[in-house]
Amino acid sequence: MTQTPRRLFDIPAPPDLPVAGDDRVFPVRRIFCVGRNYAAHAAEMGNTVDRDAPFYFTKSAHALCLSGSTVAYPPGTSDCHHEMELVVALGASAFAVDTGGAMAAVWGYACGIDLTRRDLQAAAKDKRRPWDTGKDFENAAIVGALTPAGAFGAPGAQAITLDLDGRRVQNARLSEMVWSVPEIVADLSRLYHLQPGDLIFTGTPAGVGPVQPGSRLRGEITGLAPVELEIGPSEQPPG
Ligand code: MN
Repeated sequence: MTQTPRRLFDIPAPPDLPVAGDDRVFPVRRIFCVGRNYAAHAAEMGNTVDRDAPFYFTKSAHALCLSGSTVAYPPGTSDCHHEMELVVALGASAFAVDTGGAMAAVWGYACGIDLTRRDLQAAAKDKRRPWDTGKDFENAAIVGALTPAGAFGAPGAQAITLDLDGRRVQNARLSEMVWSVPEIVADLSRLYHLQPGDLIFTGTPAGVGPVQPGSRLRGEITGLAPVELEIGPSEQPPG
């Protein structure tokens, strides 16, 4: 007789994502993010776009935060930036698919904010170190309610915007993405066995900038539920 081993402690699961107009929820498995996918944002960061291939970083699913939350200004930074992004949610597996087969794995889309400790990311870039502390921290992946792919249509002319304290600071169209959604899914599927529950942040347009304690963020993409976030007091450790 074997017994299931008793866990020493329980770990809270990442939150499930709501689906707009549906009482079902979407469980999240992994979070992939694309770097430098809008030429104007690459330029504002002093970079050029690599047209040979997209590149990626990841965030833990435990960095996920639901839209409408208030989160503390994160510790360890004095330059925390907003990056408004289209989030692709996968509902089927995909491995080594081509662009023609990639969209079959896409369940839907959401508005997302890739919160970034820009000072830590910049220091890591300078020292050729990984970006983890700049990108993968608690509440760094804020995602709104999902809309099924069929209801949204193909990403293209839709506007992608972010308002910071009521002022529009990011404003572009999804058609400005360097790598399209099918190209990203196909390329990632050559590196990973993509699975249902995987999310892909598809990169941010120009206009990124710092948030402060008390900042209110509202991101919109035409045809999707908005993503909203309020930054609470700082959690800076003393000293
Ligand atoms: Mn980003």
